[in-house]
Amino acid sequence: MDRSHFEALDRADPLARFRHRFRLPEGVIYLDGNSLGAMPVSVPARMERALGQEWAQGLIRSWNDAGWYTAGQRAAARIARLIGAAPDQVMVADSISVNLFKLLMGACRLQRRRDPGRTVIIGETDNFPTDAYLVDSVAELLGFERIRVGQDEVPAAIAAAGERLAVVQLTHVHYRSGQRYDMAGITRQVHACGGLVIWDLAHSAGAMPVELDACGADFAVGCTYKYLNGGPGAPAYAYVARSWIESFEQPLIGWHGHARPFDFAPDFVPAPGIERLLCGTQAQLSLIALEEALEAFDGVDLGQVRQKSLALGDAFISLVESQLGPEAFRLESPRDHERRGSQVSLAHPQGYAIMQALIARGVIGDFRAPDVLRFGFTPLYVRYVDIWDAVAALGEVMRTEAWNRPEFMARKPVT
Ligand SMILES: *Cc1c(COP(=O)(O)O)cnc(C)c1O
Repeated sequence: MDRSHFEALDRADPLARFRHRFRLPEGVIYLDGNSLGAMPVSVPARMERALGQEWAQGLIRSWNDAGWYTAGQRAAARIARLIGAAPDQVMVADSISVNLFKLLMGACRLQRRRDPGRTVIIGETDNFPTDAYLVDSVAELLGFERIRVGQDEVPAAIAAAGERLAVVQLTHVHYRSGQRYDMAGITRQVHACGGLVIWDLAHSAGAMPVELDACGADFAVGCTYKYLNGGPGAPAYAYVARSWIESFEQPLIGWHGHARPFDFAPDFVPAPGIERLLCGTQAQLSLIALEEALEAFDGVDLGQVRQKSLALGDAFISLVESQLGPEAFRLESPRDHERRGSQVSLAHPQGYAIMQALIARGVIGDFRAPDVLRFGFTPLYVRYVDIWDAVAALGEVMRTEAWNRPEFMARKPVT
């Protein structure tokens, strides 16, 4: 196999026509859209208008006249399509961390009202830290018992908790290894025990079809700055299945979650719908950028996105193994398509320095402690030739030991 084989794959790629929707720097191969998505080309003009006309000229009138107040609902409707949810169950606001707190508290209180004997929350030992910390915090606040297990032990833990099970909180695709859960299967098992499940979609939404409604999921959260390209710090989203919305009490009640915020009433009455998950005023400029950025998914078939994502991952694994040798790295991600997300992770004791040397050559991935190099595949703008060129650069870094320099060893605050 040579580079021309990958050029041919690009010519035949049905998603190739979407690459022009993103502004990418010259000479960069970007394999970190799983951490911060690339900027859609239409965002700067939209922000120019938001600043120059809507803020500077429209001032406070823009909450109504420029549709600022309802931007969250419009963004939510666009995200709903990408996660297999009817739009009246999705709300855009705050961060994953804050939304997880709302959902964990709300789900546990729901269970406590239905059956006070259900006091077990199951989380993953090795989950993304914010998820694990918040499970701990909510268990502590409510006097629930927190159980942490490894990814492969989740089904056994659910079965063991049985009728004491309140809530299971899992991340659909693991941030470090890229390992993916069977969402439908686990959701069924949780329900069979009478539990509720909260899925974190940070590494799934926008990279593959997600079917929350069809899986019968209860709750979900996700961020929009990774595969959804909303921009740094863009607001997150939360999903509550329609059957739970009316009985759902979220703990961070604020005026935007009130049934009539502009009554300025002394007592809280929750909004009848998903808006009850709102708390206070949003980072409106970020929300405007997100709404615009989501248009990059117009007309995109997520089945094709998934297919290409797996093909890029397969090509990456096979090139690394054939060109660098099977011993060069330890493969951290599953080969099995069913169990793999949209990234490939390679472990190496010098992982940090290797990634820095690679970034210096214009191939951008990232590093996750203790030893993992992450390569994320965003099929709307990553090409097959990029995989060939990235592995060639990685091979050169390894052969020349280019990573073995003090400037590549020094840890920066963000890895
Ligand atoms: C990226 C990510 C987060 C980030 O949470 P924020 O509150 O948006 O900073 C949380 N959980 C998972 C699994 C992630 O991958």
